[in-house]
Amino acid sequence: MELFATVAEPILRVALDAPLRRLFDYLAPADTDFAQIQPGLRVRVPFGKQSVVGVVAGIAATSSVPLDRLKRAHAVLDTESALDPVTLQLVLWAADYYHHPIGEAFAAALPSALRAGAPLAASETRWRLLPEAIDAITKTPRLGPKQRALLAILQTSESIGETELAQGDTAFRDTLRNFSSRGWVTQFQRESPLLAATVANVAQGHILTAAQSLAVDEISARLGSFSPYLLHGVTGSGKTEVYLRVIETVLARGEQALVLVPEIALTPQAIERFQARFSVPLAVLHSGITDTERLAMWRAARSGAAPVIIGTRSAIFVPLARPGILIIDEEHDSSYKQQEGFRYSARDLALRRAQQHGIPVILGSATPALESLHQANTNRYQLISLPERTGAAGAPKLSVIDLRVHEERHGMATPSVAAIQRHLADGNQVLLYLNRRGYAPTLFCPGCRWSAPCQACDARMTVHLRHHQLVCHHCGAQQPVPYACPSCATELRPVGQGTERIEDALDEIFPHVPVVRIDRDTIHTRGQIEAALARVHSKEARLLVGTQMLTKGHDFPDVTLVVILNADQGLFGTDFRAAERLAQSIVQVAGRAGRADKPGEVLIQTACPDHPLLQRLLASGYSGFADAALAERAAAGWPPFSRLAVLRAEATTREQALLFLTEARDQIPISERQQVRLLGPAPAVMERRANRFRAQLLVECAQRAPLHQLLDRWLPLVERLPSARRVRWTLDVDPLEVS
Ligand code: ADP
Ligand code: ZN
Ligand code: ZN
Repeated sequence: MELFATVAEPILRVALDAPLRRLFDYLAPADTDFAQIQPGLRVRVPFGKQSVVGVVAGIAATSSVPLDRLKRAHAVLDTESALDPVTLQLVLWAADYYHHPIGEAFAAALPSALRAGAPLAASETRWRLLPEAIDAITKTPRLGPKQRALLAILQTSESIGETELAQGDTAFRDTLRNFSSRGWVTQFQRESPLLAATVANVAQGHILTAAQSLAVDEISARLGSFSPYLLHGVTGSGKTEVYLRVIETVLARGEQALVLVPEIALTPQAIERFQARFSVPLAVLHSGITDTERLAMWRAARSGAAPVIIGTRSAIFVPLARPGILIIDEEHDSSYKQQEGFRYSARDLALRRAQQHGIPVILGSATPALESLHQANTNRYQLISLPERTGAAGAPKLSVIDLRVHEERHGMATPSVAAIQRHLADGNQVLLYLNRRGYAPTLFCPGCRWSAPCQACDARMTVHLRHHQLVCHHCGAQQPVPYACPSCATELRPVGQGTERIEDALDEIFPHVPVVRIDRDTIHTRGQIEAALARVHSKEARLLVGTQMLTKGHDFPDVTLVVILNADQGLFGTDFRAAERLAQSIVQVAGRAGRADKPGEVLIQTACPDHPLLQRLLASGYSGFADAALAERAAAGWPPFSRLAVLRAEATTREQALLFLTEARDQIPISERQQVRLLGPAPAVMERRANRFRAQLLVECAQRAPLHQLLDRWLPLVERLPSARRVRWTLDVDPLEVS
């Protein structure tokens, strides 16, 4: 029988950044005022031989650690919780819901500077005149003009800080040092003053369309209470304008707006659009900022100094002083779900966060996730539609090009080439979409049918001609392109198309028309995407070719033709979401055509023009597609009509991965089995990646609650399996991909 430590002081249950699903117990430092201890405080604690920063996740009266082994924290770093109460609960809840180590969840939520112990609020050095010095100063003969000026400032204002010094005459620094050496002034630290959320000059927006007006009025009327909205607006329908108007009202109430966008959509133009409308400090959080910038933005959000916060996924954990609204733009985007480590969905967490704050949340998209549409269909979200574009241009005209009947040259069918010619002749721009980088997906031997495989994966190497390399898109392996077949010495042939090859083909067919290619091989930094977009906006480039990157949030007013080069990649995907993804990318990329006032045309090249999904999409648009797709999901019992969790394993042999999953499956208590459907264990569709064999066990349940009850009981048993030590395993709750 274990002896529980019971002491007459609080026991701190601390979350530490470690891959362990548990909290660590400590006593507060001896000189602490115990009344001040509360969840959310950061503490510095001894951990092994190190001293690390953790977060108090809870306070207990007893500990399972024997008293003589219970250590004291070195220091309590904060006097108040680092996160607002709702955000603190959100992190704790998310760690629990996604069954992820709680310390790592806090690590995702807090900027690294704070995890290293930086103060919560910015502080600055200030100087104050010592009263006893005044007498001495007045008696001092011959004060210089600088000295007299500084003295005047110090006598009129209580103190002077670095901010004021930086703005004024820098020579004051020397004067201050001089005063300091004479013992006239004293130096102290003070929290930087909080800027009030002043709303000055909100710039004029567009005159709203009737649909926009309804949306703005409806949402604005519900500020101050939890109300989830699904704003389904076709591309160019003015969703952003709706956000801006609602935010105006939020700011007028003295509250803050948190706007999440997909990583790639957060370009300077997007930020500018918000900046141009509101002359308030904007906090911008994304992966491209420095740790120092992140800390400053986080502090501005927490203190309320920044009324508008725009960020990518992890900004869902930013604390807010006066939360007013949450907005998730392009809510269907898969970047909202973290795909490794702490596998949270920022979109799903936004719903919970808004509910806890008691504020509205807007999910906006031209192609809402089927999950979100289902919530709207069942009245859990209120659906607001913006069915029309704002400009004169109507919806783009979609048509299919049958690749079985038309001759094809470098992946472009004859009618597509003719259409490109026509749009170029009219002085417009053309966008070609192909979701495949590189030159060709296969390097093939016509002699013996060999096709360059990756040595480490069950996959083929992609030909990248620009760098004369074969590259594996799954593990990153590279090797020079061989000239001849290694087995029969026949000359090798690249088969199929990637964006590089399309770029070459365009150069050949339209020799004098500048092309810009946008994919992960040409764009590595924000600066590069800016430069590429600038070439498009200045109309210097007339032909755009690119991957998924082109479909996200960019506006190309002079693109009048979009060619989707290969729709078939998505038609036969193995994942149950493949059709949804394809429909979303077709509609998103089609939406790039003919914004402003020029009509658009969209050509979809396919070898399966009769595919029911394509037919449905062409005949009745995204909503029609979604209805049909939801009916299929219901029939098959897939989400949103069930809940999923997937236990994945990878190991150096297939057997180890499967053995672990089989043993894990056997650990599910018999009593729980009736509740769930188990699929697997089975090898992943691409079983071997980077020389590791991958397999998975899918757990499906009609309801959320019993699934989580099962996971709660099951996971500790899985953790203890001896076979767990021979594999790398992860649990993914609400997975986006299950193939
Ligand atoms: P979405 O976010 O739905 O794609 P945007 O908000 O970006 O749409 O609007 C598309 C374009 O229409 C933008 O150039 C925007 O400035 C313009 N716009 C938005 N609302 C209006 C309006 N009510 N009247 C005229 N133009 C508008
Ligand atoms: Zn060969
Ligand atoms: Zn590989």
